[in-house]
Amino acid sequence: MPTDEILAARGMQLPSMCCLCNKDSETTNHLFLECQFSLALWNWLAAIINHRIDVSSLSTLWQVTSVGNCTRLTDGSSISDFEILKFFKIEIHQSRPAKIVEVLWSPTLNGWYKCNTGGTSMGNPGPAACAGVFRNYKGEFLGCFAKNLGIANAYLLKSWELL
Ligand SMILES: [Zn+2]
Repeated sequence: MPTDEILAARGMQLPSMCCLCNKDSETTNHLFLECQFSLALWNWLAAIINHRIDVSSLSTLWQVTSVGNCTRLTDGSSISDFEILKFFKIEIHQSRPAKIVEVLWSPTLNGWYKCNTGGTSMGNPGPAACAGVFRNYKGEFLGCFAKNLGIANAYLLKSWELL
């Protein structure tokens, strides 16, 4: 940031005055850590994100600003993250909720075993995997498997599910 302090270090001769408070010369430390306007701004932001902002040095201040997402410094509550985003009128792009499908499992005949299989792929063809669960007639877990199929198409995926 070309503050008056930096411009003077480059050889420019100019009078220096902070344009925010008109009280001190414009240095990086003054602009970010000492200026009453800046301190009021940090306090305002701290109240919004419900987190103390350490303005004792540029490096501690940078811990807040360099994150790029101040919400990470809050208590991790998604509600507080939501409130911060709402305060700054940042549009939230919600992911679509997963579709919940009711699945019923019915036991097999006495003495029989049952294997339920399934598979999925991300695209056709695309990265695919399948898995299965073995249970006895009481529904007791006997074992399971999961297999990464690599890149597979829907036909190959269904073939693996049947095996
Ligand atoms: Zn100032």
